[in-house]
Parts: sequence; structure tokens; C-alpha cells
Amino acid sequence: MVVRRGRDDDDDDDDDDDEDEEDDRELVLFQGALNGVNPDLQSNGRLLQMALRPAKELVSDAIERRAEMIRVEPKGAVAQVAIYVDGIPYPSGRLPGKMAMAITQVLKLMAGMDVNERGKPQSGGMNAQFEEKKFEVRIDSAPLPQGAERLVIRMHNKDIKLEKPEDIGLSEATKMLIREQTATKRGLYLAAGPPNSGVTTMSIGILRSVDAYLYSCYTIADMKGKDLAHVATMDVREGDSLKETVVRTTRKDADVIFIDPISSPDLAQQALESAGLAAIISEMPAKDAADAVVRLVQMVNDPKLVVEHLRVVCSMKLIRVLCKRCKQAYRPNPKLLARVGLPAETRVLYRAPRPDEDDEDEDEEPDVCRVCDGMGYYGRTAMVEVVQMTDSMKDVVLSGGDAAAIRTQARNEKMQSFQSDGLRLIVEGKTSLEELQRVFRAKG
Ligand SMILES: [Zn+2]
Repeated sequence: MVVRRGRDDDDDDDDDDDEDEEDDRELVLFQGALNGVNPDLQSNGRLLQMALRPAKELVSDAIERRAEMIRVEPKGAVAQVAIYVDGIPYPSGRLPGKMAMAITQVLKLMAGMDVNERGKPQSGGMNAQFEEKKFEVRIDSAPLPQGAERLVIRMHNKDIKLEKPEDIGLSEATKMLIREQTATKRGLYLAAGPPNSGVTTMSIGILRSVDAYLYSCYTIADMKGKDLAHVATMDVREGDSLKETVVRTTRKDADVIFIDPISSPDLAQQALESAGLAAIISEMPAKDAADAVVRLVQMVNDPKLVVEHLRVVCSMKLIRVLCKRCKQAYRPNPKLLARVGLPAETRVLYRAPRPDEDDEDEDEEPDVCRVCDGMGYYGRTAMVEVVQMTDSMKDVVLSGGDAAAIRTQARNEKMQSFQSDGLRLIVEGKTSLEELQRVFRAKG
């Protein structure tokens, strides 16, 4: 898409130098709305002239700083901008209220949303490209009093491929458990979590744990354009139920079948029944793994059916990874190790550099790490909780145990918990105690 900035033609001011410098900068390219709506550029010429470049700068700056999200929050005559890097908000300056409004309108326009509608929440998105990388940019607008709108922009790098379970943060032990269980070519394997918590990524991690050279893997789920190596796609016939499609897929000798999220009692029932024909991998919305087991029982109202087919439920929380370049080693004292439950023989732990411990020289600029931009962390990984349906766990479920009872049983059987997996990441030097505490303090 070519959008003239309109500035090239009438640029006879004396500020050529500044302009050139700015123009040299590579900015994000907006490559069309996801809903296929063509933006009406003609009747929005003035808006585009005023705000297209600032909108692109806003998005480009955020991507350069590794942000996954931008929030623009109008407050009176100005709007506060915050960017989110690895889930943490950082203030990122202010915009004049009018400019914030224009940027919001431009992004709505480019994302195929209705620019004339400011009184209702709207969502849309567009494809984008920045520095050779492909992004999906999602736009959400929500009305505020006095005609302003709150703007949320989410940038998702489409080039990041999650090909191995390790990429998703599954431990070797969890991968081996899934391997061992799916080798029976039966059972239901679930990723559970709140929406947008990475639960889909986790379900792909479970699928990726299966040895795709030994077992024949199929997907009958809507993969939204994602292509998974060594996983065949089975077309879903219109009008066919989940179970009918599973039966058809097993006729092709499918051992493992990836299905759409379990979003209704009917789908839960069919998924469990299908698990008697092949290993079924799916996701479902739940607070955590124990909650998913309870919900599944409630959905089908048949604990026996659940314990017969459900094998493993995984749930995850994201935790930031220490920056490899600037993380600092320290020797933990034995009391601390005992208090948090780390092995007494742990010799070294790592933490993010602490700005207050920098040398006292006031004239000197503090050294800011160029890899993480002084944040101390770079990227995130998953802490994974696993509930396995062992014989004792089945007894808990059959006797009507609630989520707390399931958690207690999991702890008694030393199944992997958020706590134990988080401590593993600390011992491996991937994250810090401070970060683990922060994640546990955060709600949700
Ligand atoms: Zn760093």
C-alpha cells in the first residue's frame, strides 16, 4: 500500500536537514487489515497527513524496545503512553490529546475498523512489517467520557516459530511424561489456562512433545495459518461432529489428533469419547490445571468418563528470563535456600543488576546494558504445572474432590508445580528469586 505523506511536495521550508534525517529512519509498514476491509484513504487525507507518520513512529519505537503492547490512555488534554515489555509496563511519555485521538483514528482506519464510531469498543488488526520481520498488529479502542478513546495496540511477531517443547518452556520431565503417555495412542491431554495466557502455545507444546517420527500426528483444529512440521492436516467436513471427524482421521491411522479448544459441554463429551480412539490434544479455559479437571467433570457431569480418558493437564505462567549479558551471580546464604526450598548445595544464583549498587561516582553515567536496555531481563519462558491422572488422583476425582483436593494430591505425589518449576528455573540461572516472587504476587 502506498500512502503519500503529502509532505514531499510542499516541503520548501529550511528544515530539510531535520526532515531528511527523519525520513531515513525505517518505519513499520502497514500491510492491510486482517478483516480485508480496504481503508478509505481518499476521504481521510487530512487525518493521514497529520497522524500516519506519528502512528508508525509510535509502533516502530515500541517494537524496537521489544514491547508486545502499547497503551494510550487519554487524561484531560494529554494522553499517557505506556509500553509493555515482557508483561511489565514502562511509562513512555505523553502525547497531546488531539494527536492521541488522531493516531487512534488512523490505526482504526488502517485496521479496517469504523472510524466514525467512537462510542463503542472496537477491535481489529492488520498485517505489518518492520525490519524484515512480519507482525500482526491488533488494535482495541474503548470509549472514555468526553469523546476520547483508550487505545491498546498489540504487536505479535509472526516469525517466532515454536518448534520444540523447550521453546515453550516444557521441562524434559514433562516432555517425557507426555511421550510415555501418548505412546498408548489413547487419552486426552489438555493445556489449561485463562484466555491469552499462552494456553494455545502450551497445547502446541504438548503436541510437539509427541515423537512425530514414531507416531502419526494430525490436526483437525483451525490452525489460523500456522503450519506445523510433521503434522498432517485433516479437512473438516461441514456438518460433521468432532467425533465423526476423529473417526475419519483414525481411519488414516492417526495416533495423535490435535483438536480445537474445548469450549462447551458437548465438545468436552465428544473429546473424552474420542480419547478412546486416539491420543487427543486440546486446550480449555480454566484458572489452572486442577481447576480444569473440576470443570471438565462439571461439564460432562460424569467423573467416571473423565478419569477413564483424561491423562495429563498442563497449565502455565510466564516468567521473565534474566538478561544473559548483565545478570549477576551471587552466593546465596543457607538460610535463604532453606526458606525458599532450594537445595542446600546450591552454590550460585543469579539476579538482575541493582542500580543502587552501581559505583558511587555521581558524574559517571551508569552503564546501561545494551542487550536488555537496562531492564535486567530479556524475554520470557513458561513455568508449567502438571496434573497427571494417577490412580490416587483418579480416586480424588471420583470421590468428588474439588480443585484444592486435586492440588493437595498433586503436591503429595510430587507432580511438577508452578513453585517447583520456578525453582528449577532459578537453579538453572534462567531467572531470579525476585522475579519468581513478583509472578506469584501478581494476580491471575
Ligand atoms: Zn542486560
